[in-house]
Amino acid sequence: MATDDCILISGAGPVGTITGLALARQGIPVKLFDTLAEIPTDHRAATLHPSTLDMVEGIGLTERLMAKGIASPHFQYRDRATGEIVAEFDYRDIGDETRHPYALQVEQHKTIGVALELAQLHSAFQLTRPCTVVEVGQTADRVEITVEHPDGRRETHRGRYLIGCEGGRSITRKTFDIDFPGFTWQERFIIVATHFDFAAAGGYRFRNYVAHPDQWCALMKVPGERFEGIWRCLFPALTDEPNEVVTSDEWIQARFQECLPFAPSFTIVHRNLYDVHQRVAASFRAGRALLAGDSAHVNNPIGGMGMNSGIHDGLNLATKLGRIWRGEADESVLDQYDRQRRPTAQKYVQAQSIRNKETLQEKDPAIRRKRLDELKRTADTKALAHDFMLRSSLIAMVREADATA
Ligand SMILES: Cc1cc2nc3c(=O)[nH]c(=O)nc-3n(C[C@H](O)[C@H](O)[C@H](O)COP(=O)(O)OP(=O)(O)OC[C@H]3O[C@@H](n4cnc5c(N)ncnc54)[C@H](O)[C@@H]3O)c2cc1C
Repeated sequence: MATDDCILISGAGPVGTITGLALARQGIPVKLFDTLAEIPTDHRAATLHPSTLDMVEGIGLTERLMAKGIASPHFQYRDRATGEIVAEFDYRDIGDETRHPYALQVEQHKTIGVALELAQLHSAFQLTRPCTVVEVGQTADRVEITVEHPDGRRETHRGRYLIGCEGGRSITRKTFDIDFPGFTWQERFIIVATHFDFAAAGGYRFRNYVAHPDQWCALMKVPGERFEGIWRCLFPALTDEPNEVVTSDEWIQARFQECLPFAPSFTIVHRNLYDVHQRVAASFRAGRALLAGDSAHVNNPIGGMGMNSGIHDGLNLATKLGRIWRGEADESVLDQYDRQRRPTAQKYVQAQSIRNKETLQEKDPAIRRKRLDELKRTADTKALAHDFMLRSSLIAMVREADATA
């Protein structure tokens, strides 16, 4: 694609790819760049919420993703100290609010793959990989980026707008000096995958959150490459032991024995240790450069909101850029993007993901009991459960954002 009259997207993760697809479907030329040669298959987001399934239906993704995932209407909270199922929610109870009253359990790399396949059907869409965006800049009427290929060759691309979708270390956010306030959790998180079937052995649903003052965990099922079923468990690494200790079989098996005592020793098919942050960029716009997804906000994975809210950013932005492109709106809608998505990222994703973690890990017995009782009362009270699920599924966030002028 020779044209400079295009939109540049830096980063072909789920957010960059789906945003590119949504733009290309409108006939807008898109150039997308990613530093990796292939879509990474590490275990990251596993859940697409009803709000996202409703939204990506419009760009042809939902049906294709359904064929690759496991529909999961329920999610469960347990107390490991008592063995009790504290609360269970069923998305079918908000069936009046969504066309998809379930979460879809599907690995992030499959979501990216399906979006990419669809995007590549459009001549307006071009992905270049592997190449790294190493410089970004802008003038009054253009953006300009420099990309570097693995052999050191550099080239410049120009466009009307740049969407920075490069994840938490975003070069776009850093270059335009956009602050990224928030904090990093003291503990690291470790994600482990196994074929052990926790539904058969322990009656777990496909999405579970297990509270404990020392060793809480989150347990999810994903399809696996051949629908064989893989269970992912997320533990906190509440220790300053070196990485090789915390990722060793012994350490992980010990956590499983603490958290899920019925689990025998089993094969670990994947493990990954990482730092977790809670941050929201001070602005989602710097002139012609926009931020979406993890480059704009990061949060802990409890509740599965990071990728979902990032996809919502991208689709919101693609609609606005489409209107500008066709002369139906002026650039003030890009400020509206910031007004719609930034405060709601704080109010919903940050607040809920922090609260989720605090509920699981609470140490004070009285506060712990109060929080778990509150959760139980919410699940047992129809109106409260309905409201809780609207927030957990991010439907409430999307509605509030869309209603913001
Ligand atoms: C263990 C774990 C579990 C999670 N579970 C969930 C979940 O269940 N639900 C949920 O919604 N979210 C979840 N998340 C969060 C989710 O993975 C992220 O929010 C999501 O990946 C963000 O997508 P993104 O496209 O914004 O960024 P990324 O996925 O980080 O993609 C950024 C892309 O940009 C590329 N890139 C970076 N720098 C450059 C550069 N300079 N030039 C070119 N390319 C560049 C990278 O190669 C990458 O492909 C989880 C995260 C983790 C770690």
